[in-house]
Amino acid sequence: MKDAPLLEKYTVILHQNIGARPELIVKKDDILRKGQLLATPGGFVSVPVHSPTSGRVGALCEIPGPSGVKVQALEILSDGSDLPDNSLEPFPDWENQAPDILKKRIADAGIVGMGGAAFPTHVKLSPPPDKKIDTLILNGAECEPYLNADCRLMIERPEAVLEGAAIVARILGVKNIFAGIEANKPEAIAAMKEKASKYNVNIVPLRVRYPQGGEKQLIYAVTGRKTPAGGLPMDVGCVVQNVATAAAVMEAVKEGKPLIERITTVTGNAVVNPGNWRFRIGTPLSKALELSGGVKYSPGKIILGGPMMGFAQKSLDVTLMKNSSGIVLLDRDEISLFTSQACIRCGRCIDVCPMNILPGPLSVMVESEDFGLAEQYHAMDCIECGSCSYVCPSFRPLVQHFRRAKAEINARRRKAKS
Ligand code: SF4
Ligand code: SF4
Repeated sequence: MKDAPLLEKYTVILHQNIGARPELIVKKDDILRKGQLLATPGGFVSVPVHSPTSGRVGALCEIPGPSGVKVQALEILSDGSDLPDNSLEPFPDWENQAPDILKKRIADAGIVGMGGAAFPTHVKLSPPPDKKIDTLILNGAECEPYLNADCRLMIERPEAVLEGAAIVARILGVKNIFAGIEANKPEAIAAMKEKASKYNVNIVPLRVRYPQGGEKQLIYAVTGRKTPAGGLPMDVGCVVQNVATAAAVMEAVKEGKPLIERITTVTGNAVVNPGNWRFRIGTPLSKALELSGGVKYSPGKIILGGPMMGFAQKSLDVTLMKNSSGIVLLDRDEISLFTSQACIRCGRCIDVCPMNILPGPLSVMVESEDFGLAEQYHAMDCIECGSCSYVCPSFRPLVQHFRRAKAEINARRRKAKS
């Protein structure tokens, strides 16, 4: 894992979390320190955004977001000194801090699920009183092909991950702490095992299969508990945290560091020097590839995230966010260039769906815009793992259909509540 050098400019996307949009509190030409607040949370389900370095506020602009839709972003012009803000007091004695203080620190540091979901971590650590949590599971499965940022983190900084888990366990008041790691990461398992007893964490090697890192699949693999359809991990007494999120929790609490950087895998045959980098949030994909030695030839597809759940990118102006786990360049012979055809009812998608839903029929409901029926057929249980799309002989864009269905159903639910 290498530290990316300081760039002259970062372009920080302002809405990086699931939930409410943060509110900008700085203006052009304001002088900034590294880690200073740029935007405050827009509600409880929201997180602040911090400056990746010291310098000056540049333009508020629109850039392509990871999903292709234009998003608001703020330019940060570096002064080269990287002077820290230091407004979050470090808690080296966190064992003596009250759980609520620790939870507030996690919120103030802008921490979200770094495995991909970008759900605010402090919200996940605030289950309703009727949900008794007795188990914390660290997600070190990293089951998406090509990605190994979490694996390198566990090998190189196991104590950061484990201490973060201990902090989360203190907030939740739980004693059972597990870390699920796929068995194809023996170095990570060994590194974590060596330090685990100090933090009372049980390391659980997992069978290698996709999507082992899905929350419900992980809970079942580690505890044998089955999360009901439409339910959440808290319904079976569990909270799941990605290992990178746990390390970010440790840094926020013990070192007073807001979430302004993350480890991202840059890989693919076309990349000159593939590897894992610690990039600051707001680094453009073009810069990440340049630092990796550039590309040897034009790839078939550039994906932000993993090849199964990530988003294909048209522009290298997209910038890294808190949940950007990888930049994957696929060759032309690694991607499907076939045109989507009608469902032939072969049932392969049903065989592979880890959530036991019916992707083929569901996709037809979405095509005919019958979102009410799609909801009845459990569209909301789809974890967007992409397994159905991967096996479909008709090359149907199944996961894209379900992302659309979930957005529509969520919008209808919000409208019904208001
Ligand atoms: S993406 Fe497909 S296989 Fe994966 S959970 Fe959703 S419907 Fe099932
Ligand atoms: S795999 Fe494709 S063709 Fe086969 S049933 Fe599913 S959607 Fe239809």
